[in-house]
Amino acid sequence: MGKIIRDIGKAEKENFELIIAGGGIYGIMLLLEASRRNIKTLLLEKNDFGGATTLNHLKTVHGGLRYLQSLDLTRFRESVNERKWFVKYFPEYVSPMSCIMPLYGNGLKRNSVMRGALMLNDIFSFNRNMGITEGKKLPGGKILSKKKTSELFEGVDTTGLKGSAFWYDANIEEFQRLIMKVLRKSVDLGATPLNYIEVKELLTENNKVKGVKCIDTETGEEIEFSGEVVINAAGPWSRELSANFDKDFPELFKKNLMLWNILFDRKAPSDCAMGLTPKRGRGHTYFFHPWKGRLLVGTGEIVVDDIKNCVKVPGKEIDKFIDDMNSAIPGIDLKKKDILKIYAGILPASESGKLSKRPATIDHSSHGGPAGLYSISGVKFTTSRLVADKTIKKIFPDRTPSGYDSIFNGIEGSEDITLEYNEIVNEKSVNKLKKIVEDESVLHLSDLVLRRTSLGENPKRALDSLDKLKTLFKKETAWWKKEKIETEKLLKSEAGS
Ligand SMILES: Cc1cc2nc3c(=O)[nH]c(=O)nc-3n(C[C@H](O)[C@H](O)[C@H](O)COP(=O)(O)OP(=O)(O)OC[C@H]3O[C@@H](n4cnc5c(N)ncnc54)[C@H](O)[C@@H]3O)c2cc1C
Repeated sequence: MGKIIRDIGKAEKENFELIIAGGGIYGIMLLLEASRRNIKTLLLEKNDFGGATTLNHLKTVHGGLRYLQSLDLTRFRESVNERKWFVKYFPEYVSPMSCIMPLYGNGLKRNSVMRGALMLNDIFSFNRNMGITEGKKLPGGKILSKKKTSELFEGVDTTGLKGSAFWYDANIEEFQRLIMKVLRKSVDLGATPLNYIEVKELLTENNKVKGVKCIDTETGEEIEFSGEVVINAAGPWSRELSANFDKDFPELFKKNLMLWNILFDRKAPSDCAMGLTPKRGRGHTYFFHPWKGRLLVGTGEIVVDDIKNCVKVPGKEIDKFIDDMNSAIPGIDLKKKDILKIYAGILPASESGKLSKRPATIDHSSHGGPAGLYSISGVKFTTSRLVADKTIKKIFPDRTPSGYDSIFNGIEGSEDITLEYNEIVNEKSVNKLKKIVEDESVLHLSDLVLRRTSLGENPKRALDSLDKLKTLFKKETAWWKKEKIETEKLLKSEAGS
């Protein structure tokens, strides 16, 4: 697969057809969609690829069962198709995930209603396994008896239990590797992704885009890149960037919704992912995800005024979240000290503070702004490819894409590093990590630990492994010391409490 080389000098001399500002999943999928149409594209990320909202995702690709509740068949079908895309082209990282939702005979969570919903789920996702390899196909859903429910989920609250809904969705085991695969496949197609470059200003001539002015955040140097079209895909910062470039468009991010998932240092109470609604509280359903043998629970949410580069969930919200978990599974007795890691990010919400339903795309020229400038803000990881495909098709209608089969042919093993959750870094893994450092624009120790591998998903293991990684970086001792301290700080601060 293509190597990501941070050659700023080369990019400065080029004339790009498209420049993307923001290297989260939306920017990365835009890069893929542009590159498969042979559009000469530069992606600029102010920190590291995927390091903001994207890496805080729940690590699942949902087929959209919940959209059936509101009979939103368009979103349902979109999610099913996109889940299939991930399972088909990333079988080494994405697997079927069994899900269970205990039913207590209330409202929509009754056996008869859920039986109908699961039937519709199967009917409307009839093509979910087309072209998918054996072992990765998603079986149909069913209603389980009370007895079977208790067998699959030992700690289930049996008071009033009527049975459970059981279905399959998809789980992303190596999130960081999946993102890198999309980037490296885009490089194969001619793309130029550069990390640690912050886009500051839009360059225009006669109200037409001609490039961007940036800062290399590693050196502080100013750089200009030439490009005919610019897409602002800066996620939570898209409004700010839009205002810098042209003007503010509140529809990009009407409100800021902080979302979080918490990884607990506890064995999951079931091998199935569980959709559970605490008996006391607001009726919010949480997703208990058995992830790499640990328990990942999401999603908590609050509206926030301020977007900080570092998203910190208020302590009292974590207390409430843990109370909810303990009310959802009697006897689980989760404590703050069980927290391994808090994953938090900001997503766009409506005026009423509800998660936006649809992505927002703005063609600035339709509002008197520069021709060739677009801003986009997406809501779901699952549909990021689809949104990118539609956006690029609209901007470059005459460009024909090459097919995904020819791009993602077969499983790539050589650059892969997948680690068991408790696996300590050893000589063999150090050799694999060396390839990643060489080939994937790893500038900092934290890039490797948090955004190229799942090492940092187990902060204790990562802290124990740091010294073994020193040989991978041919840098002076002072550099290593500083990087180690910074990475330790990140690993410790993300361990909550
Ligand atoms: C807790 C949580 C759980 C979630 N669960 C799910 C789920 O189950 N299913 C699902 O589909 N989705 C889920 N999501 C949503 C999904 O993660 C987001 O929709 C997606 O990651 C947004 O990606 P993005 O590229 O828009 O934003 P980001 O990932 O934030 O990327 C924007 C990037 O732009 C960069 N940037 C900003 N300004 C500049 C600049 N001036 N120059 C250069 N770069 C810049 C930033 O550094 C950042 O990397 C979840 C999100 C969270 C937080």
